[in-house]
Amino acid sequence: MRKITIIGGGQSGLMVALGLLKKGYQVRVVQNRTAEDIANGRIMSSQCMFGDSVQAERDLGIDFWTELCPPVEGIAFTVPHPEQTGEKVIDWVGRLDRNAFAVDQRVKFPGWLAEFERLGGRLVIKEAGINDMEMYAREDDLVIVASGKGEIGRMFERDTDKSPYDKPQRALALTYVTGMVPRPEHSAVNFNLIPGVGEYFVFPGLTTTGPCHMMVFEGVPGGPMDCWNDIKSPDQHLAKSKEILDTFLPWEAARCRDVELTDDNGILAGRFPPTVRKPVATLPSGALVLGLGDAVCLNDPITGQGSNNAAKAARVYLNRILDHGDRPFDAAWMQGTFDAYWDYAQWVVGWTNAMLAPPPPHVLEIMGNAGAIPKLAHRMANGFDDPRDFFPWFADPDAAQAYLTELKAA
Ligand SMILES: Cc1cc2nc3c(=O)[nH]c(=O)nc-3n(C[C@H](O)[C@H](O)[C@H](O)COP(=O)(O)OP(=O)(O)OC[C@H]3O[C@@H](n4cnc5c(N)ncnc54)[C@H](O)[C@@H]3O)c2cc1C
Repeated sequence: MRKITIIGGGQSGLMVALGLLKKGYQVRVVQNRTAEDIANGRIMSSQCMFGDSVQAERDLGIDFWTELCPPVEGIAFTVPHPEQTGEKVIDWVGRLDRNAFAVDQRVKFPGWLAEFERLGGRLVIKEAGINDMEMYAREDDLVIVASGKGEIGRMFERDTDKSPYDKPQRALALTYVTGMVPRPEHSAVNFNLIPGVGEYFVFPGLTTTGPCHMMVFEGVPGGPMDCWNDIKSPDQHLAKSKEILDTFLPWEAARCRDVELTDDNGILAGRFPPTVRKPVATLPSGALVLGLGDAVCLNDPITGQGSNNAAKAARVYLNRILDHGDRPFDAAWMQGTFDAYWDYAQWVVGWTNAMLAPPPPHVLEIMGNAGAIPKLAHRMANGFDDPRDFFPWFADPDAAQAYLTELKAA
């Protein structure tokens, strides 16, 4: 029986671990926080996952929460008028073909860790370091590092060709609340882009205390939404969240008159540079380890793709391991496994990094026209499920023009 160790019991690591266990592999997960620590700790993400990623979980038989989680049924996009407060210059909504779901990782990861142990997986609670990895590499056929934003991921060399930014591009904050007024008609990610200031998006989800709304703030560094450093308490964090909406997005503020934090740990603030790393690292002994998920492909949350990427990477890695049978997991196989994922992920990374830059005229034109062309709004919304569909027309001015002409003619 083949033996595999996975460092990191998060979105990608646990999907691969559970998938392998179900195929009879012997799997060890090394995780630095217990299920209890995670459940009682701070929120880590807004983790909105679209149809294909939810399907990847369903295919593994580990989608335990979508019956309980309020669905996200569309994507709404708004740009406020630069001078006239309360007016919008762009405003459209597109329905998703398949619902998205945001299940708090404080709910999901403890649930999956319990399932992993129930199925006979070996869970080691430990902050894994290089010496541990040497031991795992000696004992097992393959070591995968799925440590998210954990420090250990720095063992993988930054890929400068694939990483255009070397500094954080947004000051991030999350606020989980109850009591928000639902959108009329149907639920959605309400995505608001405030030029020069940043982005705010919000959607329903499931947290440890039940249904809630998850608010995400993406402040341009040095701007008025880069404002979390002096916040000292959960109450101040909530007050600052509401103040931002009162100042820039009155229609969102109106939904939030009576909101309360889900819990004192329902807040987060931080920043990081989006970074792609080389997927294979060599330990001092010469043994190789393979990176997975955020450890080697970390995106800014602006497009809500990290957990989606992690799930899709997990599916690729799992299939590659199963297809490889009893052959050795050598450098070529490792690189080939990441490349198979990168075939998809390159488009997500390109789109996400483009969204961090001020939008060029052709993107503004696409966004502006989506209000009048429902087919375009529908395509924009469903591109979140598979961002490859944004190319080439979202990236290339000529292709954008040709596509808009075609849509208008129809
Ligand atoms: C503000 C914010 C909002 C976000 N919103 C969204 C969204 O709406 N949609 C979306 O798809 N994604 C979103 N994401 C991103 C998403 O949460 C991550 O991309 C996803 O969880 C990555 O999965 P992963 O398996 O790579 O890592 P993780 O899920 O982070 O798991 C890594 C695990 O490894 C453990 N670990 C780390 N170091 C070690 C070590 N040395 N030894 C042992 N264990 C270790 C950690 O404790 C953790 O459990 C958001 C992220 C942020 C910060």
